[in-house]
Amino acid sequence: MGFQNMIRVLIPAGGTGQRMGLPYPKQLLPYAGSSMLEHVVSLFAGYPVTVAYPTEHRQVFVEKLADQVDLVEGGATRYLSVRNAFESISGLEDHHMVVIHDAARPFFDPQTLPEAVALAQKVGAVIYAQQATDTIKQVDDSGLITATLPRDHIFQAQTPQIFRVDVLRRAYAAYDAAPSQEPLTDEARLVELAGLPVHVFPSSPRNRKITLQEDLHLMPQASPRIGHGYDVHRFDDTRPLFLCGVEIPGGPGLAGHSDADVALHALIDALLGAVGRGDIGSWFPDNDPQYAGIRSTKLLEKVWSELRADGYQLINADITIQAQIPKLAPHRDAMRNCTAESMDVAQDQINVKATTTEGLGFVGKREGMAAQAVVLVMREVIA
Ligand code: MG
Repeated sequence: MGFQNMIRVLIPAGGTGQRMGLPYPKQLLPYAGSSMLEHVVSLFAGYPVTVAYPTEHRQVFVEKLADQVDLVEGGATRYLSVRNAFESISGLEDHHMVVIHDAARPFFDPQTLPEAVALAQKVGAVIYAQQATDTIKQVDDSGLITATLPRDHIFQAQTPQIFRVDVLRRAYAAYDAAPSQEPLTDEARLVELAGLPVHVFPSSPRNRKITLQEDLHLMPQASPRIGHGYDVHRFDDTRPLFLCGVEIPGGPGLAGHSDADVALHALIDALLGAVGRGDIGSWFPDNDPQYAGIRSTKLLEKVWSELRADGYQLINADITIQAQIPKLAPHRDAMRNCTAESMDVAQDQINVKATTTEGLGFVGKREGMAAQAVVLVMREVIA
């Protein structure tokens, strides 16, 4: 249906988060692996979205959102941010619909939107609002109760607030023409001031706004991700031995298409496993001539730089090498340092252990080596 073509979503995200005491706008708070704002944008997938950004944080907004939404500079107030966004949209017709939603309401259920938009199309203006559940007292300046308001008729305004374009245009014109301008905390008030009807669309308390530090416990945090890798290589004493990027004198070396660094291969597989991106064989096929004899530090650097570009940080990596020969303890620090250097992380984020298998199995029979690695990574979401 052509329904979606008639809808334009505006997200005023021009605030700088000072109220929460954050060093960045609260819209960029971590939320389930990305940011609250990106999550809110994703709630309106399929609809064209315009986001008003805070001028001093333009770059971050461009990096995170430029490929998904139209960006427009926000204003000093929410009212001005919405107005800038509204006026930046070309081709709006009177019967089109504008959906305004707070960047800080990440729990909105988008399945309810078509019904609310259909109502707004009919009546001109609709806002999500929650019926009061507490008894509401009106008080004077001294705190003395002057009235108990009938709860059935009290609603707390939320967003989305949905307007037919002709209604919003008339409301802006009336506001501009008024002798003095009342400060506005939402667009519903703008339309009310113009004397036009605004209806409520009953909403749930779940659609709350993240406003204060105390609300942060409601946010799903970026979760750490764990990965495991395992690799085996057969001995080939005609080749040099590389483990964790370090050439171990005296060998024997390991057979393989690359330098056969069994420890780094396990580490690479652990990293790819943690982020759900396949395995070393799919990244660097062992029949591809460009990887013949390649140092595995190069492979690690390639994988890790891509993961970093996706925002992943290493918490730690723990590598265990199983080898009957040679003695690896003297090389442990060098292996650890080389791995940390290849990943550009601190030494204490990497641990390298070595063990024999007491003469048991293929390792014990000196046929080859095995290695295992476990990693923990976390996605960095704040720019
Ligand atoms: Mg391998």
